Amino acid sequence: MSGGVLIVGGSVGGIRTARALRNEGYAGAVTVVEAESHLPYDKPPLSKVPLDGDAHVPLLTAEEARELGIELVLGSVAVELRAQTNQLVLADGVVLDYDELVIATGAAARPSPWTGPGVHVLRTLADARALRESLQGASRLLVVGAGFIGAEVASLARKQGIEVTIVDPAPIPMARIVGDGLGERLSDLHRTNGVETKFGTTVSTLDRVDGGLRAQLSDGSEFPVDAVVVGIGAVLDVGWLESSGLTLDDGVVCDEYGRTPTFTHIHAVGDISKWYQPRLDKSARVEHWTNAVEQANTVAHNIVHPDDLQAHDPVAYVWSDQYNWKIQLFGTRDTTADPLVVEQSDPLRLAAIWQDSDGRASGGFTVNWPKASVQLRRTIAAGGPADAVHTQLSTPAVKR
Ligand SMILES: Cc1cc2nc3c(=O)[nH]c(=O)nc-3n(C[C@H](O)[C@H](O)[C@H](O)COP(=O)(O)OP(=O)(O)OC[C@H]3O[C@@H](n4cnc5c(N)ncnc54)[C@H](O)[C@@H]3O)c2cc1C
Repeated sequence: MSGGVLIVGGSVGGIRTARALRNEGYAGAVTVVEAESHLPYDKPPLSKVPLDGDAHVPLLTAEEARELGIELVLGSVAVELRAQTNQLVLADGVVLDYDELVIATGAAARPSPWTGPGVHVLRTLADARALRESLQGASRLLVVGAGFIGAEVASLARKQGIEVTIVDPAPIPMARIVGDGLGERLSDLHRTNGVETKFGTTVSTLDRVDGGLRAQLSDGSEFPVDAVVVGIGAVLDVGWLESSGLTLDDGVVCDEYGRTPTFTHIHAVGDISKWYQPRLDKSARVEHWTNAVEQANTVAHNIVHPDDLQAHDPVAYVWSDQYNWKIQLFGTRDTTADPLVVEQSDPLRLAAIWQDSDGRASGGFTVNWPKASVQLRRTIAAGGPADAVHTQLSTPAVKR
């Protein structure tokens, strides 16, 4: 094969790039190389679709791929990039040429310190299916790590009536992201939904006893579990890019247009990429779905319209479904000041607004309040004042 756009990684970043290229009118070859053998699927549903439902939500069907002229090379791992000669080497020795390359290889689950039956991480469809199988008929689940994925799995398990213990070394696990006050609310959310929280605690041992698993925690408690989910973050694999000449620094370094500085026809999108963000005046890697989609659209535009380069300068955004809370989080948090909060009970709605030292809204957190999220995100993007949006959200019209 020669020429066209070659995309490495067939998840949301890669597939959205391929689709956006066609939307932009790109008529050349579009090829997606993907390590997994499944047709492309989306990741957020893996921790959100109820345990008795199908977590497989396709990103591109075989028919759509045919219609759009997107060639999928599934079950193929890229092992080397020869950037000087525009060539990608696959594990089976096949060498693919390209005119433009898009790296969308994402991240992998940080490996669990324990392995074997009943112990899971959650990053792929295969992980999700294995976890769901383990939880069939399970009565007790141990969740290690109270970040977004751990919290969502705990929530799904509780809905199935499974007893859940969640362990995290941090006393208020989400405080790093949302501050102590909101972090404590998220901890309480677990407790009010019947989860046993063991925060400020670690797992000392996880042993196999009589065909089952037995956990011992650093607080001395000990109990049997049927399954364990380890949600302790993600890791990058850039080993295959080491000899490429690309700048690697906790990800593939790109400018605000998604181009690598050394080779402007090589781009990166999604979790693997580290774009320069003018708004923050720094390069940052973002592990959120919406960021991957927005970067994909930007890169596709910039490939098709090199004379009209568009920058992507995002207000970071992530959502999470936990119990009966639909959480949305965006922008950046000023760690020195408490947020302005608007809260309504019965049913609960909450919006918290962070501001920078000039009083501009810099970040927000909402619960069950999509309208406030839209307004907050717009205000942050426009650099609008935090107190004004706080006042607006406090008025009855917006509360509805
Ligand atoms: C369970 C779960 C729930 C999530 N929920 C949310 C959420 O609610 N909201 C949110 O904003 N974000 C969420 N995320 C994060 C979001 O899904 C990611 O930010 C997004 O998937 C990143 O997309 P990506 O295309 O950059 O990378 P990935 O989705 O990681 O995909 C990378 C792809 O590249 C392939 N690949 C890797 N290396 C190679 C190689 N050498 N050769 C060929 N192929 C390769 C992989 O097989 C994979 O398919 C969630 C993630 C998970 C795992």
